Amino acid sequence: MPRTSTARIYRGTPRNLAMLARRLQAGEIVAVPTETVYGLAANAFDAAACGKIFAAKGRPASDPLIVHIHDHRDLARVAEANAAAQKLARKFWPGPLTLVLPKNRAVPAVVSAGRSSVAVRMPAHPLFRRLLRLAGTPLAAPSANPFGYISPTTAGHVQQGLGNRIRHILDGGAARIGLESTIVDLRDPQKPRLLRPGAITLATLEKALGRKFVTVRPAVHLAKKSAGLLAPGMLPRHYSPRTPLTLHERLAGAEVRGAREACLLIAKPVHRRRPKHVFWLDPRGDLRGAARRLFATLRRLDDGRFERIHVELAQGGGLADAINDRLQRAATR
Ligand code: AMP
Ligand code: MG
Repeated sequence: MPRTSTARIYRGTPRNLAMLARRLQAGEIVAVPTETVYGLAANAFDAAACGKIFAAKGRPASDPLIVHIHDHRDLARVAEANAAAQKLARKFWPGPLTLVLPKNRAVPAVVSAGRSSVAVRMPAHPLFRRLLRLAGTPLAAPSANPFGYISPTTAGHVQQGLGNRIRHILDGGAARIGLESTIVDLRDPQKPRLLRPGAITLATLEKALGRKFVTVRPAVHLAKKSAGLLAPGMLPRHYSPRTPLTLHERLAGAEVRGAREACLLIAKPVHRRRPKHVFWLDPRGDLRGAARRLFATLRRLDDGRFERIHVELAQGGGLADAINDRLQRAATR
């Protein structure tokens, strides 16, 4: 925790929610729970309030925010929805899907980093939904972490990262999904593009829209038989722990060399005597469990004990693509 913490963590009582809604209406920023990761929220129509998000995170002004809305009617307040967007919104909202659409003029340029498009999502977390309703305005919110570090999935993570830069954190428990939302660019409904993989998978989206997507950032393709190191690729550094990560298609746990290295597997290894410093994301290798615990586990292993962490990539498509996307970026230095 930062030595000079100014942030207070609030439980989601009716009184606290009403107070935090008033803070948001007054142009302050509030860290909020969502089902994906914790967000740092401000009134999306208040340019000065949104500017505080960038300052607190150390986020470059060129990186746009996601606007969170309470219900379907709010969509028209922030964006121009086409039929494809309405179809996906009806099917997946509230939920971990963000749509990039032509921006409504009411949304200030700071939110969209000067672009003519805006990213919109209707979150599912019950406390965030109550706060959105009470605030009565869409809330712009990126992840509530210092720019470039691992996204927060608990109120405690927010406190650790931003505790000396913000004042209010709403505690909604550990994030249920644990990975940032899937982002789809629907500016051209004929050419939907996947901008970020997430819990709502590409296959599910293509089925829902009845057309193929253009993938912008190709998912990690696993050559199933060739074991060993995968190049981190050209992905931008993001979600990064300080400890260097080495990615592997398969890990046995025996790769650890000395006391200063660790292994992070997807599933619990089967050996009877497991080597020291071997960790896993889910006992049975269930990908939803692995996704939920990924960021918290990386944070725990990033406490300075280790010089290197060997990490096993997830197998298969869908949620594995989303997990591997985050791992690839975390490994990019
Ligand atoms: P974060 O919530 O921290 O993951 O940040 C929001 C992310 O949403 C940005 O980093 C972009 O990747 C994406 N995003 C937001 N607005 C737009 C937009 N208008 N066009 C494309 N991507 C966007
Ligand atoms: Mg982020």
